[in-house]
Amino acid sequence: MVAGASERLGIFGGTFDPPHIGHLAVAVNVRHDLALDRVLLVVNNLPWQKVGSRDISPAEDRLARVEAAVAGVDGLEVSRIELDAGGSSYTADTLATLLSDDPDRELYVILGSDAAAGLLTWERVEEVRRQATVVVVERPGTPAVPALPGWRWERVEVPSLEVSSTELRGRAEDGRPLDYLVTHEVVACI
Ligand code: ATP
Ligand code: MG
Repeated sequence: MVAGASERLGIFGGTFDPPHIGHLAVAVNVRHDLALDRVLLVVNNLPWQKVGSRDISPAEDRLARVEAAVAGVDGLEVSRIELDAGGSSYTADTLATLLSDDPDRELYVILGSDAAAGLLTWERVEEVRRQATVVVVERPGTPAVPALPGWRWERVEVPSLEVSSTELRGRAEDGRPLDYLVTHEVVACI
C-alpha cells in the first residue's frame, strides 16, 4: 500500500445480467493477487453502451442477484452507487464519488479484455486515468489488450472461464440449466 493510503479498493463494474462464475472468479483472484482490501461489484444503472441494443433487466433485480452471489464471500461487496446516482453510469463519476468519500483510498478498476479494448471510448476517460489503476484480466475468446501509455496498468491471470451473461440469458429463455454457471443463490433469485 502507498504510504498514507487508507485502503486498496477494487472497482469491478458491469451490467451483471446475470452475475456468473466468470465475474466471481475475476473478483476473488484480482483481490488476492493485488492484495486489495475489498472489491466492489458496481452494478451499472443504465449501461449507456448497451441501452437500445437489447432489453436489460431492471437495475434493482440485477443488484439483488449480485448481492446473492457475493453474500458471505470475504472481501467482495455489491455497490449500489450507480443506482443511487441514477441516469447513465459513467465510471469517471463513480470513481470521483468513491474518492470524495475517502480521498486516501487507492482505486483499481478491474476490466475483462473485451471491456479494456473499449476503454478509450468511455466518457471522460482522462478522469478515469487520473483517478485509478487499470487492472486487466484476459477473457477467453477476446484478444489481449496492450497497456495504454501513460496509464497505471496491471495485468492479472485468472482462470479462463468461457461464460457470458448473454449466453446465460439464452439458456434461461430456452429453459436450459444455469446450475454451476451461476451460484445456486443466484439460480434461486432468477
Ligand atoms: P454480457 O454478455 O451481457 O455483455 P458479460 O458476461 O460480458 O455480459 P458484463 O456485465 O458485461 O458481463 O461484464 C462485466 C465485466 O466482467 C467486464 O469487464 C467483462 O469483461 C468482465 N467479464 C465478464 N465475463 C467474464 C469472463 N468470463 N472472464 C473474464 N472477465 C469477464
Ligand atoms: Mg459484457
